Amino acid sequence: MSALSTYRREISRHNSASVTLLDTDTQLYTPEPSRGKRHRSTRKQRATNKRRTKAILAELLRRAGYADKAEDVRRCCSKFGVLTCGRHILRKIPTYRCRFPLCPDCAVERSRRAQARLLPRLLQTLGEYPHDRLVFITLTAPNSFATLAEVHAQFREWFRRLRRLSRWSHRIRGGVASFEIAGSEASGWHYHAHILAVRRVYYEQAELVEDWLTATSGAAFVVDIREVMDVQKGVAECLKYAFKPKDLEEWSPSMVKEFLDMKGARFSSLFGCLYGMDIEPEEAQDEADEPQEGSACPECGEALFSIVLTPEEIVGLESGVWIQNKHGTVH
Ligand SMILES: [Zn+2]
Ligand SMILES: [Zn+2]
Repeated sequence: MSALSTYRREISRHNSASVTLLDTDTQLYTPEPSRGKRHRSTRKQRATNKRRTKAILAELLRRAGYADKAEDVRRCCSKFGVLTCGRHILRKIPTYRCRFPLCPDCAVERSRRAQARLLPRLLQTLGEYPHDRLVFITLTAPNSFATLAEVHAQFREWFRRLRRLSRWSHRIRGGVASFEIAGSEASGWHYHAHILAVRRVYYEQAELVEDWLTATSGAAFVVDIREVMDVQKGVAECLKYAFKPKDLEEWSPSMVKEFLDMKGARFSSLFGCLYGMDIEPEEAQDEADEPQEGSACPECGEALFSIVLTPEEIVGLESGVWIQNKHGTVH
């Protein structure tokens, strides 16, 4: 698509200037290392990390007085109904989902669904405005010991003010913002917005710093803006923050309680040309025409069957170990 290929222009110029400000204030915001340099974790490691995060979350919930929710989180995605030929997995659906907003398993699912809704709409917009560019903007706020509800409301208000500034509205056609919550008992809440925006006119980082200072009445100035070369990766990167709480191991039970007190709060927001889209539908829509039990595996032609497996067993099946050990006992 031509809209995609046009991103490659002017990019190096923009990227070179982008991180300087963030580096000077690592207390407020530490940029993550770039994807290329980061050690790629294996599926097994990611599964282990997720299980660890869930155990931490369940313990926090229990200590905050929400034993039932803790149990829901523990049960969530502990078993899957799997449609398989014994070698290939056609479908895996958890037998139970807690749908708790801080659950890392449910976060991945919500983020996946939101990406699927947002990506075609973004590509369509970029096709309509071939001179526009996609940019990734980070806005940060100073650490705060106010309640999360107050921090959230304050940030949303600052972001509204920013969007009303003439320079912002002239340069940014619209986009999606996802709000990231991190923090610890000792340092308070760190609240950031990660924004994927359709940019009409080049927006200098220094101008954005100035505008964010104006919008926050001098309270915050740490921002980053850079061009996005790969739309799909940009969408994934932006949305993962809205659905994934960071550093849960640093949270205290009272912080979890503050989060629970914010019933119905949304951690993503669509504005400008994307306003009105819903990327967080309550339930997944069932996909039609999916393969069924008894039909042939499209990969190898073997008959498909259903079985309930744990995440570890699924990893085993995918690596071919399970089929040798257990396939005989399935039938
Ligand atoms: Zn869950
Ligand atoms: Zn197969």
